[in-house]
Amino acid sequence: MAQDRVLVFDTTLRDGEQSPGASMTLEEKVRIARALERLRVDIIEAGFAIASPGDFAAVQAVAETVKEAKVCSLARVRIEDLDAAAGALKSAVSPRIHTFIATSPIHMHYKLRMLPEQVIEQAVKAVHYARNLVEDVEFSCEDAGRSDPDFLCRIIEAAITAGARTINIPDTVGYSIPGPFGQLIALLLERIPNAHQAVFSVHCHNDLGLAVANSLSAIQQGARQVECTINGLGERAGNAALEELVMAIRTRQDLFQVETRIETTEIVPTSRLVSSITGFPVQPNKAIVGVNAFAHESGIHQDGVMKHRETYEIMRAQDVGWNANKMVLGKHSGRAAFRARLEQLGASVGSDAQLNALFERFKELADKKHEIYDEDLQALVSAESVSAVPQVFELEFLEVLSKTGQPPEACLKLKVHGQSKQVQAIGSGPVDASFRAIEALANSGAILELYSVNAITSGTDSQGEVQVRLNEAGRIVNGQGADTDILVASVKAYLDALNLLHDVSERAHPQLHREGV
Ligand code: MN
Repeated sequence: MAQDRVLVFDTTLRDGEQSPGASMTLEEKVRIARALERLRVDIIEAGFAIASPGDFAAVQAVAETVKEAKVCSLARVRIEDLDAAAGALKSAVSPRIHTFIATSPIHMHYKLRMLPEQVIEQAVKAVHYARNLVEDVEFSCEDAGRSDPDFLCRIIEAAITAGARTINIPDTVGYSIPGPFGQLIALLLERIPNAHQAVFSVHCHNDLGLAVANSLSAIQQGARQVECTINGLGERAGNAALEELVMAIRTRQDLFQVETRIETTEIVPTSRLVSSITGFPVQPNKAIVGVNAFAHESGIHQDGVMKHRETYEIMRAQDVGWNANKMVLGKHSGRAAFRARLEQLGASVGSDAQLNALFERFKELADKKHEIYDEDLQALVSAESVSAVPQVFELEFLEVLSKTGQPPEACLKLKVHGQSKQVQAIGSGPVDASFRAIEALANSGAILELYSVNAITSGTDSQGEVQVRLNEAGRIVNGQGADTDILVASVKAYLDALNLLHDVSERAHPQLHREGV
């Protein structure tokens, strides 16, 4: 049966985070890792341990949290990389080291400045060394899509002999086309004498919009692991989208005859969590997780669906978690129900004091808003985790005057390093006025790279969730704020971003040390 299982290797926390602007805090990475575990992915690539102390700590924290899935760290073929990966994975139940070296002529010549023989030697040494640190070692041929198949056969055979049990074929630059890419996998499986001792994996990028198509073609030719990210997050055009791969395999059983372990009803909640943490919105017409993916607007289609669902629907919205937006709690819900729902959502409630603080915020929200949805609870948890960051700036008071024919004016009172300060500013709109007022006190000089408002749930009493991305000399942070008043949410998000910039334990954006398959 194992032959017919495709392993899902999620790299949202490593490759996904390498998208410009998608940086996550340690706490956010742990929250996503928990969601990935509920989604039942097989392997979670938690980061690149050697890249920075922040990356190391994040891999370590994910390794401590996750019990069901394997936890993986990326490592170049260097001793110090492999040691860092093993160190960060020490407490993992099932650790995996993923080591890689480039195998295309262009990368070997210009980047590595190594001869092909030296590349094989380095790969073999690294796999041997890694196998002495952990049982489970994956080896990747970076830029395999543009590598010579003969050379791939030689280096992969050597890596398997050295102990690699997963062989990954990445299309690092998104250059491949489905037919030939599938044929490459078939050729490797056929020609490498010890191929049967390893699981073959693919890692596709979406530069030509073919990441999912290439991965599916590889599965048809025998690949049994796919590397992917939630919402297709990733550098440039992104990685293969987990939700599309999983649902294509499941919907077209007639063609694939393989299965994944994925709990598909967790797809939409996980997609929303990743989108809200990174500030990367999901386009409405995105397959599976876009808000319109299951909307049948046309009258003829609606009529057809009502008469017999399968006339126009190939999947059921509830199978991917679309009806998750249901009322769960209200004003009269008690502490026990509140705690139970948070736990079901995978939030770690921690101490009684933390629960009390969350419950108090919940009651405040329930006063303003009738029905509290799961999405509202997620936002509450996000807001609470914000206060784990040292609060240099705190909102005390906000008044915004907005009147036709007059420039909007914001009057703002902040606590800055514990001291109350007040300021007024005008702007081209109420948000602009509020942000100018904050900057008059903070003087951060940071560039506002993103400002976005989303309604967390439907209805005009919905909470607004605001994302603010600030860039201070290349250091990028994502601030979040939620409130039934979108101006208050905006100010909270801006202050959250400023507090993150002040937090020295937060690392530089991974773009500054980007490398990987
Ligand atoms: Mn990649």
